[in-house]
Amino acid sequence: MTIKTRFAPSPTGYLHVGGARTALFSWLYARKQGGEFILRIEDTDLERSTQASVDAIFDGMNWLGLAHDTGPFYQTQRFDRYQEIIQQLLDQGDAYHCTCSREELDQLREQQKANKEKPRYNGKCRSANISSEHEAVIRFKNPVGGEVIISDLVKGTITVANKELDDLIIARSDGTPTYNLTVVVDDMDMGVSHVIRGDDHINNTPRQINILKALQAPLPYYAHVPMILGSDGARLSKRHGAVSVMQYRDEGYLPDALLNYLVRLGWSHGDQEIFSIDEMIALFELKDVNVSASTFNPEKLLWLNHQYIMNSKPEHVAHHLQWHMDHQGIDCHNGPELVDIVKAQRERSKTLVEMAAASHYFYQEFEAYDEKAAKKNFKQGADDVLQHLMDEFSKLEQWDGEKLHQIVLDAVEVLALKLGKVAQPLRVAISGSGVSPAIDVTLALLGREKTLARMSRAIEFIKEKNKV
Ligand code: GLU
Repeated sequence: MTIKTRFAPSPTGYLHVGGARTALFSWLYARKQGGEFILRIEDTDLERSTQASVDAIFDGMNWLGLAHDTGPFYQTQRFDRYQEIIQQLLDQGDAYHCTCSREELDQLREQQKANKEKPRYNGKCRSANISSEHEAVIRFKNPVGGEVIISDLVKGTITVANKELDDLIIARSDGTPTYNLTVVVDDMDMGVSHVIRGDDHINNTPRQINILKALQAPLPYYAHVPMILGSDGARLSKRHGAVSVMQYRDEGYLPDALLNYLVRLGWSHGDQEIFSIDEMIALFELKDVNVSASTFNPEKLLWLNHQYIMNSKPEHVAHHLQWHMDHQGIDCHNGPELVDIVKAQRERSKTLVEMAAASHYFYQEFEAYDEKAAKKNFKQGADDVLQHLMDEFSKLEQWDGEKLHQIVLDAVEVLALKLGKVAQPLRVAISGSGVSPAIDVTLALLGREKTLARMSRAIEFIKEKNKV
């Protein structure tokens, strides 16, 4: 059997964390089995679907690196095919026209509610033989007896009696097909072998199985993935913070860190927390997906992001850092290689936004000194310390971290000061703040020209500030 999975988002908003996790599981399963991953855009709800949402889904999938093998297919381009199947179901007596009015159906529902029954269509038009000329919806003739058995790869066996299911509308009165029909036709035509999706669709599954059976189509395997909850136990939504995948990019997360977080959200392999993509592919099994919902934990995601920033190849991190530098308006041509910035800053940066913001001064002049740092470190006499260092630095033939470091250490001796009294004024002078990577690393990255110019600027500043 060729393994085919699909991700079938409705383009009515951005790609959110829940959707991305479903996509990841489908993608991993296809990769693991050497199968095919299909992307299908379920855009039949013309009022709510937008091109902006389609683009947002592509952006999210691209950024995460979840490449599809087939598609994207658009359901709006397949209306003729759905029509053909609806006609086939009508012809073979598995569907019928229904002219029950809204009022009639509302009344029925009220009555059922009053009798404490499950609201469902009573099948009034089922044998009325209404011809297609009428302004009518089309309903699927659900089997009356027997039951549907779903062997769900995550949830186990689920049995639903057919008497619980009513005759589902498969085409609206304007002729457009409904969700359950389009999904069935697509899964059948595209040869989907494994339907991996959120468990909010589980009620649709027995209905879809019945339609597939009526079409004599092979049944796919189903795997319904549990929901993601916020910390308060409610379904994860915007009020829990960022839920859009691209917002995580904007906030400085690495896509690999988010993928790693998502894979662990509802799936586990022992107590291992960190998985490379290759490991995920090798180890992922649907049977290890949790049956119950999982809770989104932003602190853990942040921790993972830091792990990835520290432990990924600096070239990889630099590639993503470049995006943030551009986004923050920093031209990185005139300064150190971003790879070196990553090496210098990764221990102290939990996000790439932080890393970028803490690295501006390597590329452009800062506007003002951090007030507290200047107050503390630019006291009278600090200008002399800086002047001494500057004279020594200027003598260097090679701008080299080790030599720069030695000069700072020598200055501590010669001036009989504590290291902090030498290194801190220097740090504030060259970076504008009291925080930077190790002083020798900072000096080496900044380079001779910028360092010396900034030291002059600081000396002037200190003189001016302490004038009596
Ligand atoms: N289009 C549906 C959704 O976005 C998914 C349908 C499916 O996976 O079967 O919720």
